[in-house]
Amino acid sequence: MAQPPEPPAQPSEEHPRVTAARLGGEGVVGVALGWVDNAGVGRVKAVPLARLADAADQGVGMSPVFDTFLVDDSMTSGRWLGGPDGDLRLLPDLSRAVALAAQPGWAWAPADRYRQDGTPHPACQRQFAARMAERAAARGLALRAAYETEWIVQRPDGGYPTDGPAYGMNRLTDLSDYLRDILSALAEQGLTVQQIHPEYAEGQFEVSVAPEGPVGAADTAVLVRHTLRAVSAAHGLRASFAPAFAPGGVGSGAHLHLSVWRTGPDAAPQNLLTGGPGRHGLTAQGEAFLAGVLAELPALLALGAPGPSSHLRLVPSHWAGAFQCWGPENREAALRLVPGLPDRPESANAEVKCFDGAANPYLAVGGVIAAGLAGMDAGAVLPPEVRGDPASADGVPRLPTGPEQALAAFEASAVLREALGEVLHDTVAAVRRAEAAAFAGQPPEAVIAATRWRY
Ligand code: GLU
Ligand code: MG
Repeated sequence: MAQPPEPPAQPSEEHPRVTAARLGGEGVVGVALGWVDNAGVGRVKAVPLARLADAADQGVGMSPVFDTFLVDDSMTSGRWLGGPDGDLRLLPDLSRAVALAAQPGWAWAPADRYRQDGTPHPACQRQFAARMAERAAARGLALRAAYETEWIVQRPDGGYPTDGPAYGMNRLTDLSDYLRDILSALAEQGLTVQQIHPEYAEGQFEVSVAPEGPVGAADTAVLVRHTLRAVSAAHGLRASFAPAFAPGGVGSGAHLHLSVWRTGPDAAPQNLLTGGPGRHGLTAQGEAFLAGVLAELPALLALGAPGPSSHLRLVPSHWAGAFQCWGPENREAALRLVPGLPDRPESANAEVKCFDGAANPYLAVGGVIAAGLAGMDAGAVLPPEVRGDPASADGVPRLPTGPEQALAAFEASAVLREALGEVLHDTVAAVRRAEAAAFAGQPPEAVIAATRWRY
């Protein structure tokens, strides 16, 4: 979080045919055009390299029914979307097109979805995140964001490739080729890794990357995951990004770090989470942003921890952030304030800990921005901070403990309804409702077995 925000990314200056030629020079034959659906599943259409320039111009046809897919590939329908009719255009953003280091011959580009008349598809999650970034920019604000990625690695026979202890050097030694290949592949793809380490649960690791703008952070989260999966496959392993992997165990999060900056033509960008008169150096505006996020967290769970197994992870005393509270460096608070280091105050940021890998990262970051801006509009203030484990404090509210509760909060959230727009809000709610119904009453083992390898 150390660097101030750069100006918003401009669309690729490179002509699509130049991009295609460049990728061809790197041995690329096919290009995966990716998006993430409302169930948090990465979906794809691919084109041969020779078709890439056309695809960037005209788009590739795809059905809007994907908006109502559930994690198990069954379909539901909402008031606006679902059913067999219609067609959309999937347009790759070539400014993020990259040859995939662990999938020789393949490149990947994130895609936006448009209607056939060329206007944005109202349920395009990536454009929602972009709209929220623009909403912030219109107020002279810029966001810096990064998702952490936690994953569990197994052999196809269900055994773990290492039995090393949590955070243990043994694990790094056992899997040093695998972890080196991950670092190499991420670097080759232009990503800046900040850390990689063994995590708490058996076979669990984490990688964190440098912050960037909100859409870029979501793109990077998707690319990191594809890369981890491909490197795992090359090593005869499988990577799980599911929130819960083993009943009762510590799950995998996809924590969102972010900072909000005041920008202006005449002054250097200023991180609003540091250098102010408030608690831990918060400025009044920075505090209002965080207070807005904190207030909407129950509803935001429907975007950030939305899967059938999300609530199996989101339990007290598992570092998952199950309580609706904030605290400085508190890993049990859903909103952890990371005050800047004394010698690098601009590194101050906040971590939304309750989010996980079932989230569509575009929806989650866009929803957080909407909530934060609403907090700023209202001049919201944070409640008292929580130190120590909120499970042993009095009166700290739990976040919703099941999908139905989170859905009710989401449906009642005027802030998220307005930000997402009726079509996207309704479609997300339809998917949440259908997934909750599909998995209702199933024991944790069954929910986990059905979702472990889906994300
Ligand atoms: N694995 C924990 C989770 O489910 C997080 C551990 C950590 O704080 O990094 O979110
Ligand atoms: Mg972690």
